[in-house]
This record gives sequence, structure tokens and C-alpha cells, in this order.
Amino acid sequence: MSILVVGTVAFDAIETPFGKTDKIIGGAATYICLSSSFFSNKINLVSVVGEDFPKTAIQLLKNKKVNTKGLQIKKGEKTFFWSGKYHNNMNNRDTIETQLNVLETFEPIVPAEFQEAEFLMLGNLMPSVQKKVLDQITKRPKLIVLDTMNFWMDLFMEDLKRALKDVDVLTINDEEARQLSEEYSLVKAAKKILTMGPKYLIIKKGEHGALLFNKSEVFFVPALPLEEVFDPTGAGDSFAGGFIGYLEQTNDISFENMKRAIYFGSVMASFCVEKFGTEKLTNITQKDIDKRLQEFIKLVKIEY
Ligand code: AMP
Repeated sequence: MSILVVGTVAFDAIETPFGKTDKIIGGAATYICLSSSFFSNKINLVSVVGEDFPKTAIQLLKNKKVNTKGLQIKKGEKTFFWSGKYHNNMNNRDTIETQLNVLETFEPIVPAEFQEAEFLMLGNLMPSVQKKVLDQITKRPKLIVLDTMNFWMDLFMEDLKRALKDVDVLTINDEEARQLSEEYSLVKAAKKILTMGPKYLIIKKGEHGALLFNKSEVFFVPALPLEEVFDPTGAGDSFAGGFIGYLEQTNDISFENMKRAIYFGSVMASFCVEKFGTEKLTNITQKDIDKRLQEFIKLVKIEY
């Protein structure tokens, strides 16, 4: 079993009400790999960085047993850079700057040894690049999950809709679901999005949890009420990593198992937000994950 992860590996500059960081290591694929590494020991990464990206950060992924053979390092070019500022409620953020840099000319190459992946996680990235990866895969994976954001909807909605035709699960936030569907009600939005290709839809609602839809059912997972939230960056990607990681680990893609998987997604997101950047995800253990899952179970269990 293996997971093929595609997405950005980046430098981020983040500002929250609790502090500010200069360039730190981030990127959708970085968070996905770190998160899913707790569930799977065969994670294959396809992405791109510039010459300015530190070798130590690549080593950090390798230490988590991520195969970085598909990570291109572009000589003389700069790594993708994103900066964002969170509002006081920590749920909303503004993108201050997005420098595509190496992403502008990125031609993904899926190494032959990654072709057998049963699980494909198309993390947040240019939709045309996500599609190019889909087109390179010779054997359709058991499950294809795609994550995206408003930035790409604003620029390349048609490319995104093309990519969506081939995916099984789409993960987006509530505002993105509204933008994609042109519906305000999330139930109506989900119905419409489920006619665009995906069979399942996950709508992330930050500190208000997440919804999992199929054509006839909806299921909910809350976010854990945390005493300290320092930096929500990467929460969505950590969620996706926990979700696909758990599905791969259990080798079960039924809707019932997806319900369990979104709990593991929320567990991973709850750790991610407790420190700046990737710091927390690199410092937790399996024991921490098990303990937090129990907190989630306690949170939602009722006797009646
Ligand atoms: P999340 O908070 O889960 O939405 O993901 C935050 C991560 O997404 C950051 O580490 C950024 O580097 C990365 N990111 C920000 N904007 C984009 C974009 N337009 N495409 C791909 N990744 C992005």
C-alpha cells in the first residue's frame, strides 16, 4: 500500500494575533506528508522547490520515511512563497502574498516506482498540475482525493472543474464550497458539487468542524475545543493527511470508514494549530494521537 502526495512544498510567512514568523517551512504537501506519516510508511511525494530550499527540511521529510524522489529541485530558482494574516477569530485569513516562483513552470513527473499508489492525494496546487498528475497515472488508484482553495478558483475555475471529473473525494472549506457551487446553503452546495465528479465531499469549517457528504447522507465531526490555537496554517492539509492516511492504513474506502477517517483528520488538525508552522506535527507521538482520539470520542458521545 502507498500514498502518492502532490502539492506545494513552500516557504510561509504567517501573522496571527499571537505572533509573526519570517520564512518558515510550509506547503500543502509538507503538512499532508507529515500528518499521513503517522498512518502510512509508504508516502511518495511529487512536488517542486527552488535551490533556496534547505536540505534539512527535505531531510525532515525523509526522516518521516517520505520518499522524495519525485521532489524536483530547480537550480537558480526560488521556492513557492505564501504569506497570510489571520483575523482575531483565527478562523478567517487574508492571503497577503503568493509568489508562485518554481510553480509557474512546474511539470510534474511521477517516477515509475510511484505508479502503483493505491491512494492519491492531490494537495492544493495549480489545477492543471493536479490534472497532469492524474493523466500520468497508468493504473487508477483505489481512491483519489483532491484539495484546492479560492486562489485557484479565482484564476483557473475551468481547469479545476476538469480535474474534478476524475476525483473521488473533494476537500474544501465552506466559502470555497459556496464559490464552486454558487449556492449559499452548504447542503445545496454539496448536492451540486457531487454532480461535478466527486462521489464524496468534505466541507471544512475551521473551528466549527467538518461535514462529510455522499449523495444521500451527511456526517459531522467537530473540531476539538482547544485552549490554545497559535496558527491555523496547514490545518486543512493535516486534516487531509490524517483522512487519507487512516483510509490507507485500514485499506477500507467505505463511507462508514470515511466517517472514522474524518475523526483522524480532525485529530491531526487539532495538533497542527497548537504551534506555529509544522512544529507540533514534528513533535507528537502515536500515543498523543490515541489520547486525542479518545478526547474526540468523549466530546461527541451521548447516552439517551
Ligand atoms: P491550509 O492552512 O491547510 O489551507 O494550508 C496552508 C498551506 O498552503 C501553507 O503552508 C501554504 O504554503 C500553502 N498554500 C497557500 N496558498 C497556496 C496555493 N495557492 N496553492 C498551494 N498551496 C498554497
